[in-house]
Amino acid sequence: LASPPLAPTPRPRSIFALTARFKADSYDKKVNLGVGAYRDNAGKPWVLPSVKKAQAALIADESVDHEYLSITGLSEFTSSSAKLILGRDSPAIAEKRVASVQTISGTGANHLGAVFLSKFYDYSKLAGGKRQIYISNPTWANHKAIFNSVGITPVDYPYYDAKTVGLDYSGLTQALQSAPNGSVFLLHACAHNPTGVDPTREQWHQLADIFESKGHLAFFDCAYQGFASGDLDGDAYSVRHFVSRKTIPVVICQSFAKNAGLYGERVGALHVVSATQEQNDAVLSQLSVIQRSEISNPPAFGARVVSMILNDASLWSQWQSDVKEMAGRIISMRTALHDLLTNRLKTPPPGQSGSWDHIVKQIGMFSYLGLKPEQVKRIVDEGHIYMTGNSRISMAGLTTGNVEYVAGWIDRVSR
Ligand code: PMP
Repeated sequence: LASPPLAPTPRPRSIFALTARFKADSYDKKVNLGVGAYRDNAGKPWVLPSVKKAQAALIADESVDHEYLSITGLSEFTSSSAKLILGRDSPAIAEKRVASVQTISGTGANHLGAVFLSKFYDYSKLAGGKRQIYISNPTWANHKAIFNSVGITPVDYPYYDAKTVGLDYSGLTQALQSAPNGSVFLLHACAHNPTGVDPTREQWHQLADIFESKGHLAFFDCAYQGFASGDLDGDAYSVRHFVSRKTIPVVICQSFAKNAGLYGERVGALHVVSATQEQNDAVLSQLSVIQRSEISNPPAFGARVVSMILNDASLWSQWQSDVKEMAGRIISMRTALHDLLTNRLKTPPPGQSGSWDHIVKQIGMFSYLGLKPEQVKRIVDEGHIYMTGNSRISMAGLTTGNVEYVAGWIDRVSR
């Protein structure tokens, strides 16, 4: 066997290095704003009360065994997760046009979707026939790796405007217009990672118009439903709007890592919305064939937990309030940081943004502060506040106990 060349350590290098530095730091006021998982106001991981109840009930239930699930996963889970993202009254579901397969969380959904496109998307109809997917610049780092690994080349489209610390809407629409008809575009359904910058509803409508006229496929990555705003329906708006058009081919990657706090259980689904039931049946059969050779059957426990929560009235209402609690804490940290910088410290805003309002306009776990790398370096080295060089902070790392300290350092490096 030929030895393969040594590969660089996978996964976000800077985050790993940052976490290692944070752990090794003995300073008592140190803060970790690199972490990509929810933390409570004491800075601790949080097991959702709805999840606790569901898992206790599952463990107590003697009829629950450890047999394999089917290839496409737990059917109660896939059908209820499709309703969660598309809406209970979704015509696409009623018309049997949604093929849903349980996946290894959101990463696995992206991967299964990528393999599916690599095998079955008709790239020959595109001018030049290039096997490409357009991804936002910037995006979740793993998108590039996932599509590269199946032979689909990721190509950046403009998304973030550093000058305004907001959306480069004209760059985005120009990219959609100038791409060959029938191109594949990856969109973040809500709470764009890493910027926290989302299109408005009006902009989503206009984007859907362009998808329709150009015949593009919308590949939605939905890792933060409910976690973004606290409203599960509101965060699904973009996806539901695109699906309601009926003419836009839509693929959806769904993760329960964040909104159910089930990071390590790997609960997710891939939903492919077809134009007809006949096409849907073919898609589902092909997804099953791919899934069989990749993982045989998805893991059961986390899917059972989520399925129980989605199908039991009292767990469902508990989960809705759990999701609101997480989103609410994050939103309150945004408000607190914004208020400290704007009103208390009167900190000069970054670049040409003119204010710190981007902190409260951005949604989800992450926020781009808009600071320069040298300012970030001082905050990390001298303030012991850990964040990535692009000044992305995880709002979940802020607490009522550390937000003033963090604001103080942002103020200091901004003068
Ligand atoms: N997509 C995006 C945009 C994400 O931010 C994440 C999580 N960081 C994922 C997908 C996948 O996460 P997981 O595999 O844990 O569900």
